[in-house]
Amino acid sequence: MKCPVCNNENSKLIFSNFKGHYHGLFDIYQCSKCGVKFAINKNKQTDQLYNKVYSENDFGYYNEYKIQAKEIKNQKEPIKYLAKKSIPYFGVYNLLKKQNNQRTLDIGCGLGYLTYAMRNSGHQATGLDISEPAVKWAKENLGDYYDNESFQIHANNHEKEYDFISALEIIEHLENPLDLLSSIKKALKPDGEALISTPNSLYYPQKAVWNTEWPPIHLWWFNDQSIQELAKKTSLKCQKLNLGKLGYCFFCPNNLLLDYYYSRNFSFNNFSAIKTEDKKTSHSLFNKTVKYLLIDFYPLRMISNFIYLLFNGQTQISIYKLTNN
Ligand SMILES: [Zn+2]
Repeated sequence: MKCPVCNNENSKLIFSNFKGHYHGLFDIYQCSKCGVKFAINKNKQTDQLYNKVYSENDFGYYNEYKIQAKEIKNQKEPIKYLAKKSIPYFGVYNLLKKQNNQRTLDIGCGLGYLTYAMRNSGHQATGLDISEPAVKWAKENLGDYYDNESFQIHANNHEKEYDFISALEIIEHLENPLDLLSSIKKALKPDGEALISTPNSLYYPQKAVWNTEWPPIHLWWFNDQSIQELAKKTSLKCQKLNLGKLGYCFFCPNNLLLDYYYSRNFSFNNFSAIKTEDKKTSHSLFNKTVKYLLIDFYPLRMISNFIYLLFNGQTQISIYKLTNN
């Protein structure tokens, strides 16, 4: 199988006939050159998938997105509220905090809370999503600055218009990830900046097959080299953001040392990663005490995170800054 990222002819089949969330069976390949892992879908994925996901009452981490969408309007500083929730929002907060009145685009805005937070910080933000129910919800609840349109069409109609573009945890969902970078390149002003984020396969041991959301939701599991390959193909400069240096240990809501321990605590030759959350929410007294001391008690959490980022820079999600030069 040819690697769609770096065109290397030798991608190895590492798992056969995996039954994902929907749409039948998937073969998982890994490129021997750039290291990307990808799921080949035997039935074609359609846009309808995300209408389904956002309409369902219980769909993994999308439940957390629904909570954020409902809470965002009650926040004094919505962008800081998001920055404290997860790494990619922290990246956006960090890049935009010194800027004023930027023209910004949030690709794959889902329920629209990041777009809302950018607006609230004084930027002219637009949110895009292919899910019709998600955009409808965002428009009804957060304001009229969302479009139910593909980023390819939007980029064609808004060339060199944006100071800042975010596409957080989008690229791993796409059949053609290169499309995303080409569209970003097209829509970005010459001196604009974009931020993309994606689950990081380097966080896990090599033998991990697919410790990220199941296909057809995620079709790719990237590492630094494969993202750099895509950036090179679109003539974008790509820089991985070092979260330790950015002061992420002060903001992070999780204990990164504890997360690392949990992430090593399951079998790597299957698809068990989705279930790791279950372990953290066990309700024994011991687990509650550990949770209080290591996660809720700020000084210990901060020290743990500082130590973790000092010795291991890898986080479960990687963030990359893209610029024209
Ligand atoms: Zn490759």
